[in-house]
Amino acid sequence: MTMIYRRVGSSGLKVSALSFGAWVTFGKQIGDPVAEKLMHTAYDAGVNFFDNAETYADGKAERVMGAILRKAGWPRDTYLVSSKVFFGAEREGPNQVGLSRKHVVEACHAALQRLQVDYLDLYYCHRPDPEVPIEETARAMHDLIVQGKVLYWGTSEWSADNLREAFEVCARLNLHRPIVEQPQYNLFHRRRVEHEYAPLYRSPGLGTTIWSPLATGLLTGKYNDGVPPDSRLNTPGMEWLRDRLTGDPAFARRVAAVKELARIAGELGTSLPRLGVAWCLKHPQVSSVILGASRPEQLQENFGALAIVDQLTPEVMKRIDAISRPVAD
Ligand code: NDP
Repeated sequence: MTMIYRRVGSSGLKVSALSFGAWVTFGKQIGDPVAEKLMHTAYDAGVNFFDNAETYADGKAERVMGAILRKAGWPRDTYLVSSKVFFGAEREGPNQVGLSRKHVVEACHAALQRLQVDYLDLYYCHRPDPEVPIEETARAMHDLIVQGKVLYWGTSEWSADNLREAFEVCARLNLHRPIVEQPQYNLFHRRRVEHEYAPLYRSPGLGTTIWSPLATGLLTGKYNDGVPPDSRLNTPGMEWLRDRLTGDPAFARRVAAVKELARIAGELGTSLPRLGVAWCLKHPQVSSVILGASRPEQLQENFGALAIVDQLTPEVMKRIDAISRPVAD
């Protein structure tokens, strides 16, 4: 299995098509030695992008990742590391959340400290903030880039209209513009990536680093017969996610779809997780699929997706589509 690298939209930045993120796991579900093994497994497989956010485990995920990066001593030009601002870290006072200039700048400084790096390669606005003019946020991001504390900025779960406004403001004021959006994308969540953002891929050339490629584990088949005790949905503090996933009116139909997808995976001689990740990789505008994992074996397994992308012929994609589209958002 050889890693491939894709440009992030029309920027010059190259990202591994499979990357690795810290949500739920680092500083929460797993111990630090497991986190370290996961980072090494990813790096050794050619992953060059590690995704994080101020809010993951209230800042602890960044601390754990920072300690691992420092200990590993990998050359800084061999990897990208991100943070995201909006939800806050340890505290949630009026200026400790959101996208004001004050919080965007202070959250960046805090993330640099926790991650023990001199600059963030990618700095995302984790959600849009209706209380802050986009111009204020864009200027703060631009200034951080000019200061060398951030190399590129992006957004996460912004609407196409939010993004258009950001592009317009940046073009008018000659500011660095966002190069990348981080949306959810998987067989059960498709609309935004496939339709809403479509015009923005052509102009100005938006890239995407997509999250929850396996629908937070549902597409692995692990929830077909209930919630296993050692799974994410059974992790203390994640009750809201369990309720959201299993309480969705489409949950039973999605489990049925997962069972049908398992048959296709079997015919191709592969596994469900590989099929789900490879399907995400088929989308040409996906710059990187951000994987999550609580065990190194899961990452090893999911890296195998790279080898089966070519097996997803138009005919196979049509069959997958017929199963997933009726139960997708
Ligand atoms: P997935 O949908 O791939 O879910 C990952 C989880 O699925 C794992 O932690 C594991 O859970 C299970 N899993 C993965 N592979 C396997 C396998 N081969 N066999 C069995 N189980 C498997 O991705 P995430 O939801 O973790 O999202 C990935 C990253 O995206 C995050 O780490 C984060 O960086 C980013 N993200 C960004 C968001 C945003 O708003 N911008 C929101 C959410 C995520 P288990 O422990 O149960 O085994």
